[in-house]
Amino acid sequence: MITTAAALAPEYIRSIAPYVPGKPVEELARELGLDAAHIVKLASNENPRGPGPRVLAALTAAATELPRYPDGNGFALKAALSARFAVSPEHIVLGNGSNDILELAAQAFLRPGDSAVYAQHAFAVYPLATQARGARGIEVPARDFGHDLDAMAAAVTPDTRIVFVANPNNPTGTWLPPDAVERFLRAVPASVAVVLDEAYNEYLEPGQNAHATRWIARHPNLIVSRTFSKAYGLAGLRIGYGVMDPAVAGLLNRVRQPFNVNAFAQAAAVAALADDTYVDESRALNRAGLAQLVAGFDALGLRHLPSHANFVLVEVGNGAKVFDRLLRAGVIVRPVGNYGLPAWLRVTVGLPSENARLLDALPEALAEARAAVPVA
Ligand SMILES: *Cc1c(COP(=O)(O)O)cnc(C)c1O
Repeated sequence: MITTAAALAPEYIRSIAPYVPGKPVEELARELGLDAAHIVKLASNENPRGPGPRVLAALTAAATELPRYPDGNGFALKAALSARFAVSPEHIVLGNGSNDILELAAQAFLRPGDSAVYAQHAFAVYPLATQARGARGIEVPARDFGHDLDAMAAAVTPDTRIVFVANPNNPTGTWLPPDAVERFLRAVPASVAVVLDEAYNEYLEPGQNAHATRWIARHPNLIVSRTFSKAYGLAGLRIGYGVMDPAVAGLLNRVRQPFNVNAFAQAAAVAALADDTYVDESRALNRAGLAQLVAGFDALGLRHLPSHANFVLVEVGNGAKVFDRLLRAGVIVRPVGNYGLPAWLRVTVGLPSENARLLDALPEALAEARAAVPVA
């Protein structure tokens, strides 16, 4: 009998359930024979405005750097981030998206036999990164769809090496106030790394920002992860960063690829970071768009969760069916059955016209999905 290489891969790799991304616009256009320009994608929590003009200018200028390898140490971007957060550049690790930071943390801390703690309905990458290291995931039941931090601290075992906390969380949009997170940090043993994933931090109202990087001096086990993919509108470039104790950063830097962040991404991120006005405008647009979506859901009598991010979870009965009907109307949203939420859809806040397209298509999609359910 021939044993294939694939069959001999570790069982913990073979049993991984692959990540399911939002459906690309071009793919739906091909499948339905639709014009891509008429498709609305509210499925991956991207900034509907894209990046600002300063970023586009920086990208054009960066084209001259293409023949050379990028700066593997990310000098300019680390300098800008270190000024922003009042930490030394040695506290910063750059990633190919913040997903890279999550993976690097798992790589640095987890081995087979270890465990990682995360919440039910939390971001899908935590179980993926855990399983890819052969470690065991401890999923802690959610409370009101959000993280139950007391239960998570209590779930830490002697073999736990990482706890993942998403604030705000994707896909639920739930948010933990700063004092609750700080209390949690005091409750978790200093020997356990806490990855605080703040991918949506820039969408919080200024008074809600925990400024978590200030906690690192007191809690050297804390890794704060941020991204340029969401509010900064740079999802396609893949750039994120982590702020952490220099000793922890040293570990993540040992396991990362030497050139994990490309030259365009570094140049764009420096420019994006210098344009706070653009982020403020994006936050305001998001606030208005959330209100628009929520008003529409209320008018249809649909339950939704209070969101602190640029998306909202809405209960539609059969998420997969309504998702499918919306696709046929050229509107892509995100079914969240793989998050244990089969009755819900996650809708990214788009431009006002895009939100209106969804709200226009929704009543018929709901009716069709209901009609498609055989009645006993
Ligand atoms: C989108 C997202 C990320 C990662 O995005 P990157 O594009 O890899 O930076 C991380 N965490 C959460 C909770 C997210 O929703």
